[in-house]
Amino acid sequence: AEKLLEVNNLKKYFPVKAGIIKRTVAHVKAVDDISFYVNEGETLGLVGESGCGKSTTGRTILRLLEATAGEVLFEGRDVMALNKSQLREIRRDMQIIFQDPYASLNPRMTVADIVGEPLDIHKLAKNKKDRNNKVKEILENVGLGAEYMNRYPHEFSGGQRQRIGVARALAVDPKLIIADEPVSALDVSVQAQVVNLMQDLQKEFGLTYLFIAHDLSVVKHISDRVAVMYLGKIVELADKRELFKNPIHPYTQSLLSAIPEADPKKKKDRIILKGDVPSPVDPPSGCRFHTRCPKAFDKCPIIEPEFKDYGNGHYAACHLLEE
Ligand code: SF4
Ligand code: MG
Repeated sequence: AEKLLEVNNLKKYFPVKAGIIKRTVAHVKAVDDISFYVNEGETLGLVGESGCGKSTTGRTILRLLEATAGEVLFEGRDVMALNKSQLREIRRDMQIIFQDPYASLNPRMTVADIVGEPLDIHKLAKNKKDRNNKVKEILENVGLGAEYMNRYPHEFSGGQRQRIGVARALAVDPKLIIADEPVSALDVSVQAQVVNLMQDLQKEFGLTYLFIAHDLSVVKHISDRVAVMYLGKIVELADKRELFKNPIHPYTQSLLSAIPEADPKKKKDRIILKGDVPSPVDPPSGCRFHTRCPKAFDKCPIIEPEFKDYGNGHYAACHLLEE
C-alpha cells in the first residue's frame, strides 16, 4: 500500500509565559517526537486520554498549528515547506472534522451555505445552480435530504449536525480526513450511526482517515491500525486485531482492561492506574508512564524506552520488551 501521510519526529511545544513581560518560562510538550504513517484507503485510529496530544497532532499535520520540529509528508510532499497558496490547495485534499459539531458550524449560515462554502473557497462550482446541485448530492450522501438545505444548525440534533460536519469535509472531495473525536460529543446510541456512515463513505469515495478518539472501543470497528498516545508520545502502534488481542505496552493493557467484555469467559481483571496523568510541562523522566505503570522497574525512571518494531509492524516503547 502507498503511504498517503507520513509523520516523522513531529514535535509541538507551546510556550508557557509568565511575568509582566510575558517571558517564556517553560514549554508544554504537547506532542513530543512522534512518527507514524497512514496508508491510502486505511483508517489509523489515534487514541489516548484527553490532553495527551491527539488533537494537537491532527492540527499540526494540517498546519492549523505550526510544528516545533519534525516532518509531515502528504503524497510525498513536505507540508511544512508549502507557501500560503500551496497550503490552500493541499487543504482540499486534507480535511478535518471537529469534535463539537455545534461549535464548528456557523449558527447564522444555512446548511446549503455551510456545505457550499468550501466549494466557493476552492472554486468548485460553476454557478449558483451547480453549487446547489452539488450541495444536494453531498447532503444525500450523508443521509440528509435536500429539504434540509435552508435550515440552520440549531434546528438539528447532535448526530445530524455531525453529518453536516462530515458533508462539509466531503464537499471538496478530499483524500484524507482527520476526524478529531467526531463522535465524542454524541449520545452513545448515535455514535455508531455516525461511525458507520463514515465507514460507508470511506468505501464509496476511497477516503483515508486519521480517526482520533479517547476511547479504544470507539475506534475498534473503523480502524485498520491503532496508535496509542500517552503524554505526547505514541507508546504502541499495531494492526487493530493484533493490538486488541495482544497489547504489549502496559498502558494499552490498562486501557483495554477498562472496556466491558460481554463474554464472561474473556473477562480480564481491570487494571486501575494509580494517580493522574502528569503535566506535559514537566513530564516524568525516562519512560513517561513510569509514575503510573504497574510494571515499572529500576530502569524506567532513568532511561527512555525506544519506540521499536517488535514484529509485523507492532511497535511499542517499553523496557520490558527489550529483556
Ligand atoms: Fe512501564 Fe517501564 Fe515499560 Fe514504561 S518502560 S511502560 S514504566 S515497564
Ligand atoms: Mg482533543
